[in-house]
Amino acid sequence: MAGAGTTQYPNLYMIIDGERVAAGDRRTFTVRNPATGDSLGELPLAGPEDLDRALDAAARGFRIWRDSTPQQRAAVLQGAARLMAERADDLARIATMEEGKTFAEARVEVMMNVGLFNFYAAECQRLYGRQLVRPAGQRSTVSYEPVGPVAAFAPWNFPIGNPGRKLGAPIAAGCSVILKSAEETPASALGVLQALLDAGLPKEVAQAVFGVPDEVSRHLLGSPVIRKLSFTGSTVVGKHLMKLASEDMKRTTMELGGHGPVLVFDDVDVDRVLDVMVAAKYRNAGQVCVSPTRFIVQEDVFDAFVSGFAERAKKVKVGDGLDPETKMGPMANSRRPDAMERLIGDARTRGGKLHAGGERIGNQGYFYAPSVLSEVPADAEIMNEEPFGPVAILNPFRSEEEMIAEANRLPYGLAAYAWTKDSRRQKVVAREIESGMVGINSVMIGGADSPFGGVKWSGHGHEDGPEGLMACLVLKAVHEG
Ligand code: NAD
Repeated sequence: MAGAGTTQYPNLYMIIDGERVAAGDRRTFTVRNPATGDSLGELPLAGPEDLDRALDAAARGFRIWRDSTPQQRAAVLQGAARLMAERADDLARIATMEEGKTFAEARVEVMMNVGLFNFYAAECQRLYGRQLVRPAGQRSTVSYEPVGPVAAFAPWNFPIGNPGRKLGAPIAAGCSVILKSAEETPASALGVLQALLDAGLPKEVAQAVFGVPDEVSRHLLGSPVIRKLSFTGSTVVGKHLMKLASEDMKRTTMELGGHGPVLVFDDVDVDRVLDVMVAAKYRNAGQVCVSPTRFIVQEDVFDAFVSGFAERAKKVKVGDGLDPETKMGPMANSRRPDAMERLIGDARTRGGKLHAGGERIGNQGYFYAPSVLSEVPADAEIMNEEPFGPVAILNPFRSEEEMIAEANRLPYGLAAYAWTKDSRRQKVVAREIESGMVGINSVMIGGADSPFGGVKWSGHGHEDGPEGLMACLVLKAVHEG
């Protein structure tokens, strides 16, 4: 297990007003290792008094942090980035233990977070307002101010990256944050916050709570202290939270589900496309909101694409993410293999063909085999619901128009991909696909400097890039006579 080290899974707690809050007589949630199903620890769940304490700290933290200088914010973010880089192996090992992804993937996730914190350390020093032209004796200025305390809800699939996104931009903007990361992956989130606190973030500025999700969100979004909701997760939960936020007209950033279409035209080098896309498909066992999911393949290359995909899928080495030989770990929780069985079973009942996988692996943990389906009818559940798992759906299409219509058929629009050597087709695809992010002959669709977000049911607002910082700011125009 070279690189992964021997770090033990830590004790679990919440961080409220700088204090580590242990379970005591609180309710708890059992965190499990998805590779074995074994318990890793008991996580304390917040009650109303804990959440009120977090709100009180966040209100005080906002008053402190909105008055900090950009240099102070930058120093904290840079310091946390440096600490996370130093602690990368430990953080990655803990993320693998609680989420299941390979240690190599988890380490990349840590380093992406390091890059994001460094990006925001620089970006927050370039926040300029403007002065309007007015007659002598008058002055009008337009300036940016931090929106206020943020309630941020992060899911389990990127246990380091999601909390990093939820904390980085608000802290750069001068906001305070109450973070509720997923109960399944708490230690990673605590590791990110600890790096910020160790780098000098005032204890009032960021809190980490855990709880029964609906209780926590109703409590926090019901409070006038919170001025912004930031959520990453499923569209159905996102819609519910937006309704709660609308009661108090809180601002929202919503990073929701996707159903990534991949257009494969007949002019491509099929083997090259497969080498890239098969690896992308099974990254984090497909539990990625920008995962390539619906492969829309032009009919002349369809048969070669299906056989090449299945051949590669069968060779993916599945195992414990801490084993350096492993290319795909288990699914993150017991709900996901159940969902795979339901969706793949329904697709086959409706005539879809199975070319690889389609079954659980072993009798411990939450392993599911890399799966390939073809010729799945459009009314199958898996063609309409985000599978969020290690399954590729391959369907043949004749014309460019049909392919684009299929890509845009669903109400989702997060990530889309297209493969073609034809420059005209590249432009048509870039223009016509309804999606927040489009990769053409590439799966690299993000970066600290690039806005990450979707359209339609995939949400609104962005994270990362200057746009992620702007989403934590409000405008104020002051006119002096
Ligand atoms: P889910 O839809 O219940 O939960 C999704 C996330 O939202 C979890 O992190 C959960 O803790 C959180 N959540 C749920 N209810 C909440 C509430 N009332 N208030 C605040 N947070 C709440 O179910 P799940 O089984 O965890 O995931 C199922 C689906 O969610 C997946 O199939 C996928 O479509 C989607 N998902 C998307 C992302 C993403 O990156 N966009 C990440 C994880 C899950």
